[in-house]
Amino acid sequence: MNFDPTNEQRRWRDLARDYAQSEIRPRAAQLDREQKFPYDIVAEMANLGLMGLTLPEEYGGSGGDFVAYSLALEEISRADTSVGVTMEAHVSLGCVPIAVYGTQEQKERFLAPCAAGERLWAFGLTEEEAGTDAGGTRTTAELEDGEWVINGSKKWITNSGTDITGGVTVMARTGVREGGRPELSVIIVPQETPGYTRGPAYEKLGWRASDQHPLYFEDCRVPEENLLGERGHGLRQFLQTLDAGRVAVAALSVGLAQACLDEALKRARKRQQFGKAIAEFQAIQFKLADMAMEIELARNMVLKAAWLKDLGRAFGREASMAKVFASETAKRAADQAVQIHGGEGFMETSAVARYWRQVKINEIGEGTSEINRQIIARILLRENADEAKAKMVAQ
Ligand SMILES: Cc1cc2nc3c(=O)[nH]c(=O)nc-3n(C[C@H](O)[C@H](O)[C@H](O)COP(=O)(O)OP(=O)(O)OC[C@H]3O[C@@H](n4cnc5c(N)ncnc54)[C@H](O)[C@@H]3O)c2cc1C
Repeated sequence: MNFDPTNEQRRWRDLARDYAQSEIRPRAAQLDREQKFPYDIVAEMANLGLMGLTLPEEYGGSGGDFVAYSLALEEISRADTSVGVTMEAHVSLGCVPIAVYGTQEQKERFLAPCAAGERLWAFGLTEEEAGTDAGGTRTTAELEDGEWVINGSKKWITNSGTDITGGVTVMARTGVREGGRPELSVIIVPQETPGYTRGPAYEKLGWRASDQHPLYFEDCRVPEENLLGERGHGLRQFLQTLDAGRVAVAALSVGLAQACLDEALKRARKRQQFGKAIAEFQAIQFKLADMAMEIELARNMVLKAAWLKDLGRAFGREASMAKVFASETAKRAADQAVQIHGGEGFMETSAVARYWRQVKINEIGEGTSEINRQIIARILLRENADEAKAKMVAQ
């Protein structure tokens, strides 16, 4: 087994790390405080190829693999998860579905400016009645004279209201199946479409320099050819999109956990009590050791899931495992990092206070921990223990 990244994967990781540590990390506290979307940072990340890292080169993307993307996203998120989620939601949720399911015309028109990073793209699933249960979608799209007429609303949609947002792909009810279940489809809505508006941004606990809005559709009309993928396949497309998104959110979590360890190590070496650095107390050393062990394990889980995806093999269970474990690792790391800082960690002047606020969302977005545990258990219960174990070692 070879744990070394390829030269190309290493190049992406180092490029992201250099940029993130020199340009993003020093501004993260201010961006959080001012809740400002960092247009200049996103523009530079586009120049570096990060905003289209896994997207096809023929449409202006960087053509990198998923391992490279996970390594780069970890480094960006280690500097600031607000910027990390902007990159993740744009690439994994916004652009990948168009790259995978789009027609050539849709890719040329909608994906190309986004793969180059000039525009951002959003994915709108969540609604008042449709959170974990996508089947609760109430937004409707009816076909009328060659146009989809969309009515309804969405909430908390990332990257939906920036000055450079190109549009959103929305999940909508396009009919009813036998037994009354909704027929769900995904439709592309460009930003300037009449009848499509956005509400004000939210006041959030974390990810405060990222962009989320409620979306409103009132007799919003788009051409019939804006259907993404097959009619009625919306849920299936969404679940496949989410598998990869979970690995990405896990990478983001590893980055945040690593940032917690970085700060905790610095503080433990510097802070003197009882005439010596607190790093010399075994109680502090054990916290640092536990953080490092869990981060190592979480990173390996992310990279294994990413590696399976790159090989075109099944990775759904590994994606859910990585998502749950990495997000919970980050939460424990943030908690211990504050503990190691003592009262200083409770002050908004310390980075770890910000990390502690930011970390919670990782257990919620792109599939809560509860749902991911259910996915893992469901897969396990379908087979006997030996088969399950064999599959976990190698698929
Ligand atoms: C900052 C932010 C950005 C977001 N960005 C986007 C975006 O870009 N696009 C988008 O579409 N959405 C986005 N979301 C929405 C996000 O994906 C949802 O918040 C998430 O899917 C959970 O849905 P919910 O919040 O409605 O929780 P709910 O579904 O109401 O769940 C509440 C609780 O019940 C539990 N629960 C629900 N069902 C079950 C079950 N069957 N068994 C056991 N437990 C269950 C959940 O695990 C959770 O603990 C964003 C959310 C936030 C906060």
